[in-house]
Amino acid sequence: MSRELVFVVEPDAGRVTVEISDASKSTIDQLADDLGSGMNLNCASPVQKERSLPVLQPDSDITRPEADGFSIWLYRIYHNSVVDGPGRRSVIQTVGCSIKCRQCLVPQTHSRENGEFVSVSSIVAEVVGQREEHDGVTILGGEPFDQPEAVAELVSRLKHNGFHVTVYSGYTLEQLIQQKLPPIDYILTHIDLLIDGPFISSMSEGAGEYRGSRNQRLIGRML
Ligand code: SF4
Repeated sequence: MSRELVFVVEPDAGRVTVEISDASKSTIDQLADDLGSGMNLNCASPVQKERSLPVLQPDSDITRPEADGFSIWLYRIYHNSVVDGPGRRSVIQTVGCSIKCRQCLVPQTHSRENGEFVSVSSIVAEVVGQREEHDGVTILGGEPFDQPEAVAELVSRLKHNGFHVTVYSGYTLEQLIQQKLPPIDYILTHIDLLIDGPFISSMSEGAGEYRGSRNQRLIGRML
């Protein structure tokens, strides 16, 4: 397998983002030494080696907090991503994933135990506060469509605020349509870009922008 490193340099902001499709641990350690402290981004990306997933607790064991209007199981929010959709984006990373692709890079997002139940209002307020800093908002996971009602509400409020919205899913578009659920249909007909399909490690080479494996598709607005 060929090894591919893509550097995205933002001279004005003093940031460098490195996309790594396959690299040795020594290469990654060298990059960390050269570039300084950073953070890991992205869902649906390949990992270098087999690794065992942590033992996960079933979500049914979790006591669900009272919802504040609409609330969502959230892993984290981060900003200034240039690998999770077009332009520079704020990213809302949901927690909880029923798909569990083999070799997923973010197994820590599979169980809701690892996240918080957060009001949609507070999430929208944070990305609105960053309005001047990004070109759009990406919702990824975990699996966003495991929380269709809350994510539909989130999409509604983001579009009301005029944001370009990208959503990742480990399901294909066809699988999502087949579910025939109104909140899923709402999401699909109001977002600007869907990046669909599970991460398949054997198809990671040459996956293309924003994607972890070649089976994943960029699907533009459908209405
Ligand atoms: S859909 Fe696949 S790649 Fe995304 S969080 Fe779930 S297991 Fe990981």
